[in-house]
Amino acid sequence: MARSIGIIGAGFTGALLALHLLRRCGDQDRIFLIEKARRFGAGLAYSTGNAHHLLNVRAGNMSAFSAEPDHFVEWLRRLPDQTRAMIDDDPPGPSSFAPRGLFGSYVQQSLAEAIWRGQGGDRLTIVNDEAVGIEREFGGIGVKLAVGRKLVVDTAILAVGNFPPAGTAGPVFGDPWDERALADLDPKAPLLILGTGLTMVDTVISLLDQGHQGPIQAISRRGLLPRQHVGAIPDETGEIRLPRPWTFDPPPSGRSLVALTQVVRRTIDQAERGGRGWRSVIDGLRPHTQRLWHELSHVERKRFLRHLRPWWDVHRHRAAPQVMARLTEARERGQLQIVAGKVAETKVAEDGVVVQVKLRGGDALATYRGARLIDCSGLNSDCTKLDQPLLKQLLETGLIRSDALRLGVDVAADGALIDRDGQAAADLFAIGPITKGAFWEIIAVPDLRVACEAMAARLLPAAPESQPADFGITSSRTIAPSRSGRGAG
Ligand SMILES: Cc1cc2nc3c(=O)[nH]c(=O)nc-3n(C[C@H](O)[C@H](O)[C@H](O)COP(=O)(O)OP(=O)(O)OC[C@H]3O[C@@H](n4cnc5c(N)ncnc54)[C@H](O)[C@@H]3O)c2cc1C
Repeated sequence: MARSIGIIGAGFTGALLALHLLRRCGDQDRIFLIEKARRFGAGLAYSTGNAHHLLNVRAGNMSAFSAEPDHFVEWLRRLPDQTRAMIDDDPPGPSSFAPRGLFGSYVQQSLAEAIWRGQGGDRLTIVNDEAVGIEREFGGIGVKLAVGRKLVVDTAILAVGNFPPAGTAGPVFGDPWDERALADLDPKAPLLILGTGLTMVDTVISLLDQGHQGPIQAISRRGLLPRQHVGAIPDETGEIRLPRPWTFDPPPSGRSLVALTQVVRRTIDQAERGGRGWRSVIDGLRPHTQRLWHELSHVERKRFLRHLRPWWDVHRHRAAPQVMARLTEARERGQLQIVAGKVAETKVAEDGVVVQVKLRGGDALATYRGARLIDCSGLNSDCTKLDQPLLKQLLETGLIRSDALRLGVDVAADGALIDRDGQAAADLFAIGPITKGAFWEIIAVPDLRVACEAMAARLLPAAPESQPADFGITSSRTIAPSRSGRGAG
């Protein structure tokens, strides 16, 4: 029986899911990949044109396919010399940190190759439009598009990813990825940044690249900076290898956050004493994190978010050494200052912004002034507060609900969306960062690619026997979607 599947969002997750579905689908099946932005496969993370915005994961862990760990590294090695020169290591290897924009091109090219390898047929349809609503109707799921047309499919998957904070008002930039945030800036102007995580790091790198000389003050409650990856270490044969994650034996488990933290601390002590370092332990937790999250009660998860998350984030999501070296230099020459404290008040003044900060560890209030304030304090995940037509409509009609911790949408273990009444859908799914409430560790590529493989197997359990070993796709086309009826026309 022919099946039709609509994927909403073509960042890394949506594009990769399409690739995996294409590997499994038959001649009569149809996949629709719907993306509102012009660029498919890149999303927020990999659209940056700045070659100094590096991946925060080594190339050896960034393959789009878990069964082919060298896929991305080999792609990097095949790049023309001029493009490869953007990468610090020559030749690039598993330990390299490549520019994020290159990774976007890699995903795009993987999708394009899958399309070009085909020989006729219509399995993948690219739809360049915004999905603004979903409704159940006779014969399937109707996905309403902003142009006013509708696609009808058997199954729809939300792969809508990361939502930047909104709300730019005068000199206060709610969205740090808004091009205007750093444009037309006096190079000597003082600047304020909210947040001291990876987005702040990106913003400071962009400022340094554009020759900014003015002081930059970055403020967050604890003033914690992302830790950095260790540099590449050659083994005894001179070969550069990826650092080996710690093997937990027995695997960590338990419902108490305190007990779990003790196990991790003890293991870190052991790793440090044995010369393996704390990073190996944090990386060794990765295969267990989703299960551990699942085992924790709601109260324990809340406790984790309140007390441990900032520490977890800076140790888990690390920056490339060459990126952190530039930040350290900026701090040492006094241009970048990290302020630990809670913002008490933000006022727009004639010449910019004035922020009052209650400094950490006391009651002292400090005043900071900047020509602009750029909010790098994090992505939006509370879908009840997002100004997105699709999510608003889905919440209003009860087809989705927020997860209990407001980290995204509520889903079952297989990604099925849970509706207002607590029922898991058979035809509506979500995948990627908006499922963080259920899985927690579902943000970075190594976890997303596994999720895409599992989702493809869930939706198309039987790969057709006639499929070739690689992509079973025959061709694709770009469409102007139909007003109604199954599929597009
Ligand atoms: C700045 C940044 C850097 C990162 N760096 C790394 C890294 O180095 N390594 C790593 O492993 N992870 C990194 N991550 C984590 C990142 O979340 C994932 O790697 C991955 O990019 C998530 O992809 P996604 O497709 O789920 O979401 P997104 O990339 O956000 O893509 C979602 C897509 O859906 C589209 N969309 C949304 N709503 C609609 C709609 N209604 N209709 C049509 N289209 C819609 C959007 O336009 C977007 O293209 C980074 C994240 C950020 C924000």
